[in-house]
Amino acid sequence: MSKVSPPQPDIKSLIDDYLRRHHPDICRHWFHEITVASVAGGCVSLRVPERVHRQYLQRSCMAAFTEAAQAATGKLVAVRFVGDVDEAPARALSQTSTPSAPSELDEQLVLSPDYTFESFVVGPGNRLVHAAAIAVGSNPGRAYNPLFIHGGVGLGKTHMLQSICQVILKQRPQSRIGYVSCQSFSEIFMACVKAGRMQDFRHRFRNLDMLVVDDIHFLSKREQSQEEFFHTFNSLYQAGKQIVLSSDASPNDIPDLEERLVSRFNCGLVARMDRPCYETRVAILKSKAVLVGADVPEEICSYIAARIDTNIRELEGCLTKVRCFALANDRAIDLDLAKEALADNSLGISSSAQPSIQTIAEAVTRYYDIRLSDLLSKRRHKSISVPRQMCMWLARKHTRYSLEEIGGYFGGRDHTTVLHAVRNIGQRKDTDPDIANAVNRIEGVFARPSSR
Ligand code: ADP
Ligand code: MG
Repeated sequence: MSKVSPPQPDIKSLIDDYLRRHHPDICRHWFHEITVASVAGGCVSLRVPERVHRQYLQRSCMAAFTEAAQAATGKLVAVRFVGDVDEAPARALSQTSTPSAPSELDEQLVLSPDYTFESFVVGPGNRLVHAAAIAVGSNPGRAYNPLFIHGGVGLGKTHMLQSICQVILKQRPQSRIGYVSCQSFSEIFMACVKAGRMQDFRHRFRNLDMLVVDDIHFLSKREQSQEEFFHTFNSLYQAGKQIVLSSDASPNDIPDLEERLVSRFNCGLVARMDRPCYETRVAILKSKAVLVGADVPEEICSYIAARIDTNIRELEGCLTKVRCFALANDRAIDLDLAKEALADNSLGISSSAQPSIQTIAEAVTRYYDIRLSDLLSKRRHKSISVPRQMCMWLARKHTRYSLEEIGGYFGGRDHTTVLHAVRNIGQRKDTDPDIANAVNRIEGVFARPSSR
């Protein structure tokens, strides 16, 4: 048995520093809650009170923490993450040993600490889903059953599902929650059929307080799985247990789904998630920056939000790219850096051949020889207000943004201002040769294939 040395507080800050420098992608703002439980027998034990945090660390951060702990101590140490009760024993542990064997539920319930209600930004596109999820989280089995969330890729369905699981687990830690993807449901089912262990399967899925299945549209065409899911659903539903499902389409639009399942899925609340508007996208980026403890100026969030308007995962990807680029080059995050970091990011010209709002703003500022910050400012001088109106008119014509979104982008103006701008330029382009010329020249820029 080796000697236990007292906790060494500065190891933690060394580890933090190291992780921030070398593994910024895994860093989270709650890392400061982690404390050193002990340093003993070649092992640094870190105390992490929240179970979901611990699971995240064990699953995704073991190697980075080990590397950081080795750099911090200058020794070939291992790392362990322990809970509040799980006191670190003063025994040497090999890197491969897992702390406290997880229960069956733990294994199944892989939740991301990033996906909570706290980190979810509410906007017009997801307000209904969010309200319904909150209601289900505080009143499972009684608010809406089933809750069926549908919407496009990367709009936050999984985030919502996991948020519900996490609040329920927080309020009622003993709840038996089954959270699976539809594929795993099918795979577990097929494996149990093959092994003749259907009893186990039913035991596992029918003795739950809540069943959450992500991407249920994968049941499409899988007849056997549909059959089994139908019985699972009924058995839980009749027992008053909560069921939450997500899908890329509404129940009626999932191809090859048995009619009886369609009607079950429709019998609670079906809530759709829509694309986030510009303001929501900016707010999401800010919240992601806070989550990873990064200092990202507002204008960078606006810049990225204006380029990516479809998928929140891509939005986050751009933020990560900018942060990593700044770290790698040891530079502060500013607009020039963001432009460089995202220069090869063709996502800017989002999905279609439409120019992005950013492209429009750049073309207009170049034509009138003014600065972007002038466009976004409160200045009302004609030399600025005409180009700004031009931007609004072009954005209305060439992008799918709403008046509100366009106003939001160009300095937080309201939709009546945008409407006025659109009308003004619309009329003047037919009567005022200066405006007509500007329109031609600027639109010519978009038409060029190389336009960014
Ligand atoms: P889906 O399951 O609909 O494909 P996800 O739930 O995986 O989408 O979301 C993709 C990413 O976008 C996740 O990192 C998630 O945290 C983030 N995200 C989506 N919507 C929001 C929101 N409203 N607020 C904060 N983050 C969001
Ligand atoms: Mg998902």
